[in-house]
Amino acid sequence: MKRIYNFSAGPGILPVEVLQEASQGVLEINGSGMSILEVSHRGKDYDAIHVETRERLLRVLGLDPEVYTALFLGGGASTQFSMLPMNFLSPGDTADYVNTGEWASKAIKEAKRYGTINVASSSEDRSHTYIPTEHNFSPDAKYVHITTNNTIYGTEWSYIPETGNVPLIADASSDIMGKNLDYSKFTLIYAGAQKNAGPAGVTLVIARKAYLDSALDNLPTIFSYKTHAKADSMYNTPPVFPIYVVGLVLKWIEKEGGLGVIEARNRAKAAVIYDALDAYTHFYEPAVPGAADRSLMNITFRLKNKDLEKPFLAGAQSRDMDGLKGHRNVGGMRASIYNAFPKDGCDALAQYLHDFAKSNA
Ligand SMILES: *Cc1c(COP(=O)(O)O)cnc(C)c1O
Repeated sequence: MKRIYNFSAGPGILPVEVLQEASQGVLEINGSGMSILEVSHRGKDYDAIHVETRERLLRVLGLDPEVYTALFLGGGASTQFSMLPMNFLSPGDTADYVNTGEWASKAIKEAKRYGTINVASSSEDRSHTYIPTEHNFSPDAKYVHITTNNTIYGTEWSYIPETGNVPLIADASSDIMGKNLDYSKFTLIYAGAQKNAGPAGVTLVIARKAYLDSALDNLPTIFSYKTHAKADSMYNTPPVFPIYVVGLVLKWIEKEGGLGVIEARNRAKAAVIYDALDAYTHFYEPAVPGAADRSLMNITFRLKNKDLEKPFLAGAQSRDMDGLKGHRNVGGMRASIYNAFPKDGCDALAQYLHDFAKSNA
């Protein structure tokens, strides 16, 4: 099997051993004579995977299963942009949102359909190249919503904002399990799995059970958190295969030593690339100037000479590095180095950054 360095922002890279085990599962699961793609979601083979994956997810995040639950839903993180306010905002209610980029803006746009949205802070004034530190939170907000990692701009929160008694909600689609955070500071966290947690097709919603119990009633059944909490994400057919692969990723994280080990590794990985960029400031321009705001997951930068972008990408391809082109809305380059991305690949990119700068000086 040939593996290149895949810097894709999402769907992102998965650990090789997860791919290997998943490919076995596609052929046959648990000696059942059936593929994971063929088994009933109500049968015992899948049921064990479902329960174990939920338990493992909470364990990896360090969350008490008496207090928290995890749901496995369809529709991507984008569905949560609507589902969250639908479940918790009535007309006249206020929610606080921090606008740190495109995904945050999309969440704000949808939430406005359900209540009054106070943009408590925004990084729009400097093209979303930093994380605000001052927030104008409203005391009567139903919740505060943040985007922990801004996949497109390459910023990541280095701290968890203090919201007092107001529930803190996070879209953690692109950095869930990338750091050893105190996840219990969050009341609800959602994440499309396809960046740092598994394949496309399942959205993780991790929440305090009591909070889900407090959701509004009289919603369309399928959009009600209560429906899914009550049915343990089996109200309708869950995304069986993506959940199975998320379970394998969680097993891999535990085997590697948990989130402490993963975070240390991610910091070392990101450092070699940022260091290489910072060593040639006349040649490269890191998109995020402040070290504390720089993402461990998505490293964004430009070449000072735009004409060199194409040759840069072509040269990367010839060294088996793919996916470095930045998001279409911001341009430049982006190296996504999620949990499964190997340190070797970061070293290879750092070396290339040195070589390219020198040979085009
Ligand atoms: C990719 C991404 C989304 C959108 O996720 P989908 O699962 O495609 O809907 C939302 N928020 C963040 C932070 C993302 O990175």
